[in-house]
Amino acid sequence: MDPPFACPICKAAVTPELKTFPFCSERCRLLDLGAWLDERYRVARPLASAAGAAKGVSEDGEEGGPGAGESDVDSSD
Ligand SMILES: [Zn+2]
Repeated sequence: MDPPFACPICKAAVTPELKTFPFCSERCRLLDLGAWLDERYRVARPLASAAGAAKGVSEDGEEGGPGAGESDVDSSD
């Protein structure tokens, strides 16, 4: 019993045995690649409004246990 897979592009039913899985066809595969590249180019674009949440970095100190346990028993004689 194979779980139903759907092509991310056209939502057509696909099977993992397909050479183009998870896409139903080479066409959809290329379409997805094109969309991915398009998005990549958009992100790569130098945005002017880059000033974001750069400030306000909470520097959380390390967790200091109640009374540093000295489990380092050194019997030097
Ligand atoms: Zn498809």
